[in-house]
Amino acid sequence: MAAPAPDSELLRLTDLCVRCGLCLPHCPTYRIAREEGESPRGRIALAAALAADGALKADATLRRHLDQCLLCRACEQVCPAEVPFARIMSRARERLGPRRDRPLPYRLILGLLARPRLWRLALALLHAGERLGSSRLLASLRLRPPLAILPRLPPRWRPRRASDGAAVYLFEGCSTSRLASDACRAAEAILRRLGFRVLAAAKPHCCGAALRHEGLLQPAERLAKALHAAFPEPVPVLVLDSGCLEAVRNALGERAQDIHTFLLAEDLPRRVRWKEGQVEALLHQPCTLRAEPSARAAHDRLLASVPGLVLRALPERAHCCGAGGLQFLLASPTSLRLREELDGAPEMPLITANVGCRAWFTAGRFARSGSGRVYHPLESIAERIER
Ligand code: SF4
Ligand code: SF4
Repeated sequence: MAAPAPDSELLRLTDLCVRCGLCLPHCPTYRIAREEGESPRGRIALAAALAADGALKADATLRRHLDQCLLCRACEQVCPAEVPFARIMSRARERLGPRRDRPLPYRLILGLLARPRLWRLALALLHAGERLGSSRLLASLRLRPPLAILPRLPPRWRPRRASDGAAVYLFEGCSTSRLASDACRAAEAILRRLGFRVLAAAKPHCCGAALRHEGLLQPAERLAKALHAAFPEPVPVLVLDSGCLEAVRNALGERAQDIHTFLLAEDLPRRVRWKEGQVEALLHQPCTLRAEPSARAAHDRLLASVPGLVLRALPERAHCCGAGGLQFLLASPTSLRLREELDGAPEMPLITANVGCRAWFTAGRFARSGSGRVYHPLESIAERIER
């Protein structure tokens, strides 16, 4: 078979790197491995080699270095040359081609994610199986990741009966209304309290961010284009999961809004009565939120405005939890090590705006300790509102 032609766009992007190394101390995988191949600069060099030479053998070492990037984008945020690292990595992963070296269940999950109707059906079947006791059966088997990591599936969120008021959509995505259904219910309760009518999407959908992460750029693009048909009414589309925000905004433009920003603009803190008393929680700042400075500022301001909600910071090094899109399903040693850095944190509920991080935390110590509940910022806010 003929070798693929050089990828001139990927080469143009990798050429932007001046190899200064300023990003290295910020990279979680480099911090752990202390290897150039596990650093942003090393990965850019590998991507450039892949782009230039179609005949280059993508051996196991090269794949491992590219695979283990969490796409946390910490490198992008400190890079003086503004190298678009996430675009480089997605394109390099695309160039690696079909990944038969990945576990079959993982490939199956990726295949289903590209077909939102089938994915929703699969989640509904898994949920039905859980109710019949399949999760106890699975727990008794010695399964390997990703089957060993699959999160529990609560009942899917559906909006309550229509009410009056201005309409807004709540972005369900491929998994938010299932993995974070309590967060959707909390968001709906808050929005209704402010007088809004909450709509669900017209059809199953996905923003494509998880597939883009994996280098599956064409299916990701198809999913993004289909979002217009899923949200036909010309009203705001509110995004709960920080992992979807960028992709939904790229697809739907200004109609897509971070829900914390929306609630702050609607003056939530002054329009409700808050409960007395005090609760404490750990605050996780997902990488996807850190990459969105204005959404992050709104998220922080909204949480800070809730009387009696006392937030504790996680240990500084633990800010990347290792979830890395869908990579948490593979439970790599790097992902595990990053999550273990949290083990020193006090046992109390943990708040995170990213649904993937939530599933990853829930599969760890937070599932084992009785007090370790993991939830979305909006759940913590809804709980503090006087009914
Ligand atoms: S990615 Fe940016 S910060 Fe890192 S080595 Fe290249 S130019 Fe320097
Ligand atoms: S995206 Fe994150 S894990 Fe990947 S190279 Fe950059 S800093 Fe390292």
